[in-house]
Amino acid sequence: MALKALDIFKLLPKTNCKKCGCPTCLAFAMKLAQKQASLDQCPDVTAESKAQLEGSAAPPIRLVTIGEGANKLEIGNETVMFRHDESFYHPPGIGVIIPDNLDEAALAAKIQAAAKLQFVRVGTAIRSDIVAVINASRQAEPFAKTVAAVQKLERPLVLMSTEPSHIAKALASCQGQKPLIHAATADTWEKYAALAKEKQCPLAVTEPDLDKLAALTEKIKSAGVADLILDVTSHSLSATLQALTAIRRLALKKNLRSLGYPCMAIGLGQTPAEQLAQCCAYIAKYAGIVLSSMDQPEHILPLLTLRQNLYTDPRKPIQVEPKLYPVGAVTNASPLLITTNFSLTYYTVEGEVEASRVPAYIGVVDTEGTSVLTAFAADKLTSEKVTAFLKSEAVKEKIAHHKVIIPGYVAVMSGALEEESGWEVMVGPREASGLPKYLKTVWKSG
Ligand code: SF4
Repeated sequence: MALKALDIFKLLPKTNCKKCGCPTCLAFAMKLAQKQASLDQCPDVTAESKAQLEGSAAPPIRLVTIGEGANKLEIGNETVMFRHDESFYHPPGIGVIIPDNLDEAALAAKIQAAAKLQFVRVGTAIRSDIVAVINASRQAEPFAKTVAAVQKLERPLVLMSTEPSHIAKALASCQGQKPLIHAATADTWEKYAALAKEKQCPLAVTEPDLDKLAALTEKIKSAGVADLILDVTSHSLSATLQALTAIRRLALKKNLRSLGYPCMAIGLGQTPAEQLAQCCAYIAKYAGIVLSSMDQPEHILPLLTLRQNLYTDPRKPIQVEPKLYPVGAVTNASPLLITTNFSLTYYTVEGEVEASRVPAYIGVVDTEGTSVLTAFAADKLTSEKVTAFLKSEAVKEKIAHHKVIIPGYVAVMSGALEEESGWEVMVGPREASGLPKYLKTVWKSG
């Protein structure tokens, strides 16, 4: 368990010298406990206390990096079991496994399909962000060739082979990339650990029995490899989920350092639908890397969407900037629709306006990232706020008419808004999906 402020205080010099910037050692201890200060700020702490305090300050789940520079994936360093307790911080890598026994055309098609797995959702670019090559041929040459070929995807790599010498050969084309080496077992760990240590790469470890897995990671750590990822995949979804959950619990609740590493899991289902179900479960609990053979957008987009939703900080709604947004080839006679600055609301409205092919302005009012009804109920979307927006310079500059469309759910504010703003208020549809029809019929005839 992480040390509490009083335990930390006992290890400090207790001279209240203020060199750390805190008035007392106790105040500094409280900051350390809340991870708001660094131990380096106290120059007088003894080496013995430092060792104890640093051990306790280390994150319960190690942060592991695969890849380098702009092309890297950081996983682990999570601090809670449930997203609503705080937030999840490091989204899992989602990737395709490419076998090394494809002919040239099939490999090119596979790489092309993987390259297309990128999308924009609620204004954010999301993509399949890791790629694995599996040594299905069991030969060194095709494995090395396939690894070299997938480099064009410019994504962090996972090299999967039961033969360390094949991985060593493939690593020749991965200079400075730190791919994940997959995977050491109880029988082979020494060779894999030596390779990972020499090439400074993270190493995946696999062992179904958690006690044995903990013992194995200790041995590998003693051999000089600290960046480990635990592959807990089994053929049963429930067994994999059980292992993922147990490891997270043991790392966070029992501070078991030997299992304090990010995990990975592979969707092994026979069909894409089975793999999709497995991967969704692994993303939710608690894999740091999720791999499968799926490479079609309709299979990967749901995974990316789930990941995006889970790894959004629940304490901070995603917001867009409150301002006037033009959609399409607008003129000063284009309609003006009012909505809130909750990203999901804004992008839903924007998508429907785009689909209508009626150029329009969307006026985004600052509602602190809340949706229309929530904002209205919390007095964050009021006639006063909308009036202030309509009287802003941005609106005066761009819009020559005085008609505004408000969301159907807040029709009740139309009277007050007309009175306060002097604008003609048109009540739009309740759901954004009604906007194309509304803009093409009601607005055009209005
Ligand atoms: Fe205490 Fe160290 Fe801060 Fe001085 S610098 S007040 S000894 S914690």
